[in-house]
Amino acid sequence: MRDLLGGKGAGLAEMTRLGLPVPPGFTITTKACNSFSKSGRFPPGLLKQVDEALATVEAKSGKTFGDPANPLLVSVRSGAKFSMPGMMDTVLNVGLNDATVLALVEQSGNERWAWDSYRRLLSMFGRIVKDIGVHKFDAILERYKERTEGKKDTDLTADMLKSVVEEYKALYRSEFQEDFPQKPRDQLREAIGAVFRSWNGKRAVDYRNFNRIPHNLGTAANVQMMVFGNMGADSGTGVAFTRNPSTGARELYGEYLASAQGEDVVAGIRTPLKIADLKATYPAVFEQFAGVAAMLEKHFRDVQDVEFTVERGRLFMLQTRTAKRTAQAAVKIAVDMVNERLISKEEALLRVEPLHVVQLLLPRFDEEAKKDAAKEGRYLATGLNASPGAATGYVSLDPDEAERLGRDEKKPVILVRTETSPDDVHGMLHAKGILTAHGGATSHAAVVARGLGLPCVAGCEVLRIDYGAGEFRVGDKVVRRGDFVSIDGTTGEVFDGSIRTIEPDFEREVDLRTLLGWADEVRRLQVWANADYPRDAVRAREFGAQGIGLCRTEHMFFETDRLPVVHEMILAAPEYRRTNAQIRAFRTEVESAKEEHRAELEKRLALLSPIHEDLSQRYLGSLEKLGQLQREDFVGILRAMAGLPVIIRLIDPPLHEFLPKYDVLLVEVTKLRMGRGNPELLRATAVSKADKEFLEEIEEAGHGDLALGVETLLPKKERLLAAVEATKEANPMLGLRGCRLGITYPEITEMQVRAIFEAACHLKKEGVDVHPEIMIPLVGHVHELENQREALESEAKKVMERAGVAVDYKFGTMIEIPRAAVTADEIAKFAQFFSFGTNDLTQTTFGYSRDDAEGKFLLEYVSNKILPFNPFQTIDREGVGQLMRMCVQKGRKVRPTLEVGICGEHGGDPSSIELCDEIGLNYVSCSPYRVPVARLAAAHAKLRGTVSVAKDR
Ligand code: PEP
Ligand code: MG
Repeated sequence: MRDLLGGKGAGLAEMTRLGLPVPPGFTITTKACNSFSKSGRFPPGLLKQVDEALATVEAKSGKTFGDPANPLLVSVRSGAKFSMPGMMDTVLNVGLNDATVLALVEQSGNERWAWDSYRRLLSMFGRIVKDIGVHKFDAILERYKERTEGKKDTDLTADMLKSVVEEYKALYRSEFQEDFPQKPRDQLREAIGAVFRSWNGKRAVDYRNFNRIPHNLGTAANVQMMVFGNMGADSGTGVAFTRNPSTGARELYGEYLASAQGEDVVAGIRTPLKIADLKATYPAVFEQFAGVAAMLEKHFRDVQDVEFTVERGRLFMLQTRTAKRTAQAAVKIAVDMVNERLISKEEALLRVEPLHVVQLLLPRFDEEAKKDAAKEGRYLATGLNASPGAATGYVSLDPDEAERLGRDEKKPVILVRTETSPDDVHGMLHAKGILTAHGGATSHAAVVARGLGLPCVAGCEVLRIDYGAGEFRVGDKVVRRGDFVSIDGTTGEVFDGSIRTIEPDFEREVDLRTLLGWADEVRRLQVWANADYPRDAVRAREFGAQGIGLCRTEHMFFETDRLPVVHEMILAAPEYRRTNAQIRAFRTEVESAKEEHRAELEKRLALLSPIHEDLSQRYLGSLEKLGQLQREDFVGILRAMAGLPVIIRLIDPPLHEFLPKYDVLLVEVTKLRMGRGNPELLRATAVSKADKEFLEEIEEAGHGDLALGVETLLPKKERLLAAVEATKEANPMLGLRGCRLGITYPEITEMQVRAIFEAACHLKKEGVDVHPEIMIPLVGHVHELENQREALESEAKKVMERAGVAVDYKFGTMIEIPRAAVTADEIAKFAQFFSFGTNDLTQTTFGYSRDDAEGKFLLEYVSNKILPFNPFQTIDREGVGQLMRMCVQKGRKVRPTLEVGICGEHGGDPSSIELCDEIGLNYVSCSPYRVPVARLAAAHAKLRGTVSVAKDR
């Protein structure tokens, strides 16, 4: 019905059907609008139908259109399928002319009101139907207002309004060389045409583009008898919600303005009455309205947003529609309505969007405090709501300063930039929120903020940032560095000063927990979490995670106290490998050599032995140290997840990621070489922050003696530089990483497996129920997996034998390379589980390097519609999704019990979760704070299509 009648028309029709007091009227369909848009003319027969419908309205109202004794007046309102507030046009008081206005005077006894209604029609008709600039009408009105004492509309006398009407008519004539149409039917015809045309007005088109509403829907036109709320103290107009749309509380919520018309409420001419107070002031009106509101809610089985008018004590309903609501209200209302037996649990689940759950678990502004801020004039601007959540903090325009304030001084900071780049990330890490003047939903700021779970308002184009002056401007308003500013990443709003913030607490979100409990009853997909540390695992479990789908072990290497050990290991690894190979080659030679050469070869072999010994100590020694540290990490995470599976992934990134940057090292080595003969030169030339920090490092190395520091540090830095040079790759994303590392340096992965099994055996002996799953990254060919499985399972076996316990474990692989997906039947022979690493699978399928793509062209691709969305946020169904589907089918054919999940970032994205459900994955794994979102999204995926809920609300 909404397709044809639009939201407003359908609501009016339904209310009429229910016998509610609706002013008589009729709706012209969106189909007629579409035909009008195409041909520029009304479809044949339309005007005849309008006449017939008007006759019915006349009969019901007891008035006649154009009758100089008892005239019917009508409104012509737009109303599309989806609400587009204020984007299209409406003409009121149609039917007034020089004759009928007199009847109005007669009937109402209110001359002033009658002429005011006529002057409103003239200006609305002139502006909307004939496109006369509104300022021309305003200029006339202003002149008259100037002559009154109060200088307001309401101060104009009836005589003044009569003169205004005359001047408006003259204006109309001078613009069009014809008179304002006195025939009501001409007015009506033209008003309907104008409402249809407003569907393609610039405002409406822009709004639809922004909200992705199709352009071919068209608007309906609602023609309805006018009722007047401005006919004295027993008249009025109101807007209300059947429950509180901010909190979800079961109370009538809204405003009523006595003796006023709809637009007066919006214009804020007088302070309206709260609907709740209506009970005391106008009990009869309240009773009528409360009864209708309850009936509407019960009928539509959802909260309604209604408009009404009271004309001389009689209530008229003008609109009803499903109410928009905050995340908090959405959850509360859904749960309450189940308890009130209005809706089923399944419907309740579908009424809450996964994004609502995200919002509820992020800091948010206290709604009342936000309203107060707006009243105090502290609203600054609205940008793109790029990453949800709210934050208040000191303005900082410089990432270095943001880092210092946030990290060292523990102050809340909002980092404000024209746009951000990878050079700003250190500041973003320590900020509470990000505000940028440019950039869209896939801009660097938006992508990074979402990754960090930080609120972000991007593309706030009215911001004029002046880094030099340390301030930004919005119009005349100046906000300086160090001032407070508040951003709402959920709505995109920006305010001056601070606003009270509510910190989320999952424990206290009783309604949300109830709702998620219902989601758990419904969903098929399990929800696991990505967690690298025990504290994340604990959080994930609290949020309802049923396992750990990805523990990235390399993150444990990055901790400051471990990095020197990691460096030592990386420095020694290639040499260790080389000498090992040499020794093996010599031994073979020795065995097959003739007697006379053997002594010579053995001598050379003996020479290699101490070098090999030293390298073993450095390489295997550091690995042993790392192993001990990792064992503790694994004990922590396996203990936190007792009883549940924990997938631990072996080392994945290229080794250079653990080392200092090549160019930084090169500069340092060059400086040290320069400083050898003249260390004071280093002091004299230390200008930048980085120079000074390096100087401190040298002095520290020399215990205060600069020359000694240079001598000590130089060989170390040279070795590091050589190692970095050796690990440098043309394209590290496709280079020595993932399982390729484990095959090249088997000792690293063996150490990790040893640590995992030692931890597991230790816990098992304590009585803790552990289920580790070992995961090999970046497999492309089955032989890679076969190689690793052999080496690692024998290591696992050794540890278990030593400990005298058996651990329940699985061995599996990530699917991140298209070749792995295509040859899944081969790979499944050696894997008990697959986990889709869709971050890499997207990179390798598209051939994009994510960092380069998001930084350079992906943003434009999305905004130019070359790609429909960012494939790193939502799985590309047709490409990556197809590979996944094929992979699951092929894998399960060989191994029906194959456990398949996803651990790329898409595991927390509702639309990707739907795909995962569809292709039969066992679980999705996402970051801990996304777990509740995924629980709901997984339930949605299951329910879609199985429950009949009015989707086109
Ligand atoms: C992936 O590629 O999807 C994945 C989870 O691995 P990472 O992000 O660590 O490369
Ligand atoms: Mg990966």
